Amino acid sequence: MAGQKNEKMEAIVSLAKRRGFIYQGSEVYGGLSGTWDYGPLGVTLKRNIMQLWWKMFVDSRDDMYGVDAAILMNQKVWQASGHVDTFVDPLTEDLVTKRRYRTDHILKDKGIDPTGMTMQEMDAAVQEHDIKSPDGNPLSESRTFNMMFTTHVGPVADDKSVSYLRPETAQGIFTNYKNVLDAFYPDLPFGLAQQGKAFRNEISPRDFIFRSREFEQMEIEYFVHPEKWAEAFDALLVDVHAFLKALGLPTEKIHELEVPAEDRAHYSERTVDIEFDFPIGREELLGLAYRTNFDLSNIQRMSGKGMEYTVKGTNERFIPHVIEPSFGVERALMAVLSSAYTEDEVNGETRVYLRFPEELAPIRYAVSPLLKNKPELVAKARDVYALLKTKYGNVMWDDNGNIGKRYRRQDEIGTPFCVVIDFETLEDDRVTIRERDTTKQTRVAISSFK
Ligand code: ATP
Repeated sequence: MAGQKNEKMEAIVSLAKRRGFIYQGSEVYGGLSGTWDYGPLGVTLKRNIMQLWWKMFVDSRDDMYGVDAAILMNQKVWQASGHVDTFVDPLTEDLVTKRRYRTDHILKDKGIDPTGMTMQEMDAAVQEHDIKSPDGNPLSESRTFNMMFTTHVGPVADDKSVSYLRPETAQGIFTNYKNVLDAFYPDLPFGLAQQGKAFRNEISPRDFIFRSREFEQMEIEYFVHPEKWAEAFDALLVDVHAFLKALGLPTEKIHELEVPAEDRAHYSERTVDIEFDFPIGREELLGLAYRTNFDLSNIQRMSGKGMEYTVKGTNERFIPHVIEPSFGVERALMAVLSSAYTEDEVNGETRVYLRFPEELAPIRYAVSPLLKNKPELVAKARDVYALLKTKYGNVMWDDNGNIGKRYRRQDEIGTPFCVVIDFETLEDDRVTIRERDTTKQTRVAISSFK
């Protein structure tokens, strides 16, 4: 269950830190809760996931357009979207320690499903089951807590200068719908896609990067004719599954949850959450929501600017409806890490390796001379390294320790192939390629890399 420690999760968190994937944010000063920093391998893994998404949802399609909006936006954006009034979580407080918790999380951790409960019903459940805080103290009544980070733009801190760190990337897409329409006038259906940071002042960030206060999203607003939303929804659901497959996530760990009406945002007529069996339990990985024309209608009302779409060659005008696939990068990354994490036995020893799909692996090839004190081997290995580096970029030179140790180290960071240059290479221009998953070794001509 979420929040509980478990061995696999701990092994992943420790490997992620030790091998340079993910660190606690501001760790040198004792950390800042809910923030995470990416090291050299983590940043590449994360970018590879984001690039794969961009390739599959934007570059390879002719109905999608990318945008990249500012994080700070006019406060009216968040008034129109409803975030100022309703982007809240139920907050309860330990009456002794004053520590604060999300009431729905407190219930969930006690095995009570808070789905569909109002805040009053959650408080009643806490009373009825005599639930105490994790420190064993009584809990306060719940109150709502707005999760947006507030800031001020410019030198004067008053109501007019209030702005927020965006809690979702979606609004930066809606506010650019008209700009893209004016510049391109695409036929319906078409989508606008954005990747970028989002910030939520989560009451209790937890479970490694799963629930962070600063994270990244990959979102699409897909604009459709009001009568054609259902087919677009189904098609996008298929595309979402294709992406999860490309991430290497096992199908049996992916679950569709048809969100019941009482749990959907009030504007949503259908939402499917994709849940994943993380080591912390089954939790939301991403969401697919039919948002009707809620957002564009609100923008039209608040801004006074027309958001209607006129079908080319006709007089048919309407505000398009929207299907929104909303992915969290950190959750995708955590799903990838936990699916890739594997232990097996090689030569009687336990081996840990990360079975990343080749396209996601932070290092694609590690190149080694069999012996690092033989200049002729080193020179040849440097040539092969330069060749692969030019072709792929994410190639590592590794000449530390003996070959067996190098393989283990590369396995642990998920490098699919180790290339070894030995004395025979000098004779026949062939190298040994050792595969991570099977540990199989084959001889391959250097010319095959060109
Ligand atoms: P949850 O119920 O888990 O808080 P949510 O339903 O509020 O999530 P959405 O508002 O639908 O999440 O956001 C879309 C996606 O953004 C989520 O599916 C998730 O992948 C990601 N996301 C949301 N909040 C966080 C967070 N605090 N840390 C990391 N990723 C997040």
